[in-house]
Amino acid sequence: MCGVFGIHGHEEAANIAYLGLHSLQHRGQESAGLVAAEGRLRRSVHMGLVSDAFNRETLAKLPGRAAIGHVRYSTAGSSELRNAQPLLFEYVDGSISIGHNGNLVNATELRAQLEAEGSIFQTSSDTEVIIHLMARARPSDVAEELARLRTGQEPGLGGAFRDDVVARLMIALRQVRGAYSLVLLTDDETMIGVRDPHGFRPLVLGRLKDSYVLSSESSSFDLIEAELIREISPGELVVIRKGGLVSHQLVAEVPPPRFCVFEHVYFARPDALLNGKSIYKARQRMGARLAQEAPVDAEVVIPVPDSGVPAAVGYSRESGIPFEMGLIRSHYVGRTFIEPQDSIRHFGVRLKLSPVRAVVDGKRVVVVDDSLVRGTTSRKIVKMLRAAGAREVHVRVSAPPTTHPCFYGIDTPNRSELVAASHTIEEIARYITCDSLAYLSHDGLMAAVSTDSAGSGYCSACFTGNYPVPLGRTSGGEPSLVKLGLGKV
Ligand code: AMP
Repeated sequence: MCGVFGIHGHEEAANIAYLGLHSLQHRGQESAGLVAAEGRLRRSVHMGLVSDAFNRETLAKLPGRAAIGHVRYSTAGSSELRNAQPLLFEYVDGSISIGHNGNLVNATELRAQLEAEGSIFQTSSDTEVIIHLMARARPSDVAEELARLRTGQEPGLGGAFRDDVVARLMIALRQVRGAYSLVLLTDDETMIGVRDPHGFRPLVLGRLKDSYVLSSESSSFDLIEAELIREISPGELVVIRKGGLVSHQLVAEVPPPRFCVFEHVYFARPDALLNGKSIYKARQRMGARLAQEAPVDAEVVIPVPDSGVPAAVGYSRESGIPFEMGLIRSHYVGRTFIEPQDSIRHFGVRLKLSPVRAVVDGKRVVVVDDSLVRGTTSRKIVKMLRAAGAREVHVRVSAPPTTHPCFYGIDTPNRSELVAASHTIEEIARYITCDSLAYLSHDGLMAAVSTDSAGSGYCSACFTGNYPVPLGRTSGGEPSLVKLGLGKV
């Protein structure tokens, strides 16, 4: 749960990256950071929101024609300034900066090994492991990797290399497992974008006049008026320099893609195109399918704003039941779930949402939300709607029950806190005190996001427990749901 952005070849790189971060704010609200390159790298990172983190003066201190940025919500490593990204390091090849979206599942064991061999870590974030692996790459391995890149054995090779950074990064990334969409920037103004071989997290490439831009979501390009070129492919590494862009493949055989389906369900902005698909339309299809699978005799369909809106529109259209805004969201509080402290989150529901009596009073109401995780939000909403006069409250969730935690970068709580991991739908309905509760089926979700109803291009481990990349020390088969010591997972 983070957002990354990068721009290369623009007079006002830091300013544009700042705008890019604004459009990714929903992906992380704990810290925001920018690094710009002009002869050397300059870094500015702050806790809190993008708008609070930067101003004219701080941005003016980030000159250069290339910049990368990051908004963070910690899934690995604690929420503190030293973990704020982009991280910046000095190593044998100069300075390098990195911003990461995703979670590495073998970071703990790699870090233990590196520390045993003498590495000193500056942060508790999993991302730092990548830089240590780059710095410690054996000269013979780097030479071999460079030779391989230069002789064109690497698919997609083109252009010349001035240094070892790409070779080192390739060596490092072959040792990590898990989810990563990365942007990197070096002091010689090389920008690199990478997506892990499964493509768990998004990363898109765009063009703004003569500059290249990278972003977690295409909505950023709309804001800065850049043109979307394409997605960075799973397992692709793009190197952007003055001379242009060169693409490399991280691994010879790219595994089947495993794009995170929860990006479609909840996380990405509805105006984004992800995996070539409109998030808004996919959510609408989820709602329509939910109306077919779980109809209700009711008088009004209301969304839990904002994330439930497109699905509620789909539900209303398919069922013919009128759509109304029966809950109003205050835009002056952030995403409550995203606040790390439970106390704030519990209180936050009432702070964030209030019922519209004129819409729900005396009515049989269908309330549509995109996901039900702990059940706390729905329980509060049902109570609020009843207090506002709703005669019946039927909860419809436009995703399957969240039964398993995510180890690839979405902040889902421990299994013990996932209400659907240990309770039946009837029990959950009783807990949230609704008149009826239904979820979208897994097949229904896959049909909504993909043309292939098996949904083979997606990771839906949070709904199925089928983890595409094994966790912890296991090398295959059933993943061990051990606590990895990675922050909140
Ligand atoms: P809960 O109270 O735990 O059931 O929270 C469910 C609500 O949180 C739904 O309204 C979702 O839109 C939202 N939500 C689900 N997953 C996440 C997440 N990983 N981060 C932030 N919000 C989430």
